[in-house]
Amino acid sequence: MTTSDMTFQPVFNLKRPILIAGPCSAETEDQVLTTAHGLKGQGVDLFRAGIWKPRTRPGAFEGIGMPGLRWLKRVKEETGIPVTTEVATAQHVYDCLKFGIDVFWIGARTTVNPFSVQEIADALEGTDIPVLVKNPVNPDYKLWVGALERLHKAGLRRIAAIHRGFSSYGDFKYRNLPRWQMAIDLMQEFPGLEVICDISHICGRRDILAETAQKAYDLNFDGLMVEVHPTPDQAWSDAAQQLTPAQYAEMLQNLVRRAVTTDDPDFLASMENCRSAIDEIDEEIINLIAERMHLVKEIGVIKKEKNVAVLQPERFRALREALQRRGAKNELSPEFISLFLEAIHQESINQQETIINENTADQPASGNLWIND
Ligand code: PEP
Ligand code: MN
Repeated sequence: MTTSDMTFQPVFNLKRPILIAGPCSAETEDQVLTTAHGLKGQGVDLFRAGIWKPRTRPGAFEGIGMPGLRWLKRVKEETGIPVTTEVATAQHVYDCLKFGIDVFWIGARTTVNPFSVQEIADALEGTDIPVLVKNPVNPDYKLWVGALERLHKAGLRRIAAIHRGFSSYGDFKYRNLPRWQMAIDLMQEFPGLEVICDISHICGRRDILAETAQKAYDLNFDGLMVEVHPTPDQAWSDAAQQLTPAQYAEMLQNLVRRAVTTDDPDFLASMENCRSAIDEIDEEIINLIAERMHLVKEIGVIKKEKNVAVLQPERFRALREALQRRGAKNELSPEFISLFLEAIHQESINQQETIINENTADQPASGNLWIND
């Protein structure tokens, strides 16, 4: 079976959007129950709370552990909302099964480790527990799919994915950078798979949660995961990104869920027009890039003939700066310009290396040749 043959059953089988909310961590019984009662009636489909917390650095609050399972059981009894928590080991799985936890989730720091995912999959074999799989901390699509595959091989079918962004080094708008295209690729490769957006871990801060939730709706995510706490500023983990139940309700009220498509003939006609214009532009872009590569190869041939090894990093820097300026004028983000230029540059290097390495016994090693285009 190839990964593309994997079929999934809905975890939720509900109206859209699917809403998962609750505190980052279960801290006290009162905090958990207050949050759950605050969320009751707000359309929450699943109540979340972390009990075992994988923290980046030691010394931070690492979760309340077993007592939290009893609190979650009470949430379900008192509010009727099903509950979910994060599992990272086989023992977590057994403990959660004992306490009737409805849905399990695998965190980003666990998805990254195939040994751990396999251990969880083995512990779940023979059950029909729904599992939500967060993307790994690094943007590795195959690792994410591999985790889904391990659970699928263990016989589980009620599996959903959660996009929670990817860690990075530096100061960015988001705590974990979203890679929207990767989530869209997942939706397209596995049409039956529900894909949820964890806006809290993507944003890391309250003020951009609403716009990010709207973005997730517009990209047709199946639902949202949101961290909610009665007194967010006092939270024992992820204080900056949590909302009160009232703020959560207000955010939801202001979100617009647009239809995926419509039969309206005016809409269809204008979509058709725009799409054919886009197709033409895309074709032109590819032709222009091919033309550019042609010139790059010509430079490669000339340099090879002259046996020139030249390193000109300033050429690339100047090119990058010029394109960044042009990009800024046209409302293209610096991140996009960098990615775009690096992709083109990498392809140029690959193409030139092919030329340089043709019958190069008497030529300098290509490693010395960084031939600028
Ligand atoms: C969480 O959901 O609280 C959590 C730890 O998430 P992640 O694995 O996405 O960091
Ligand atoms: Mn958290």
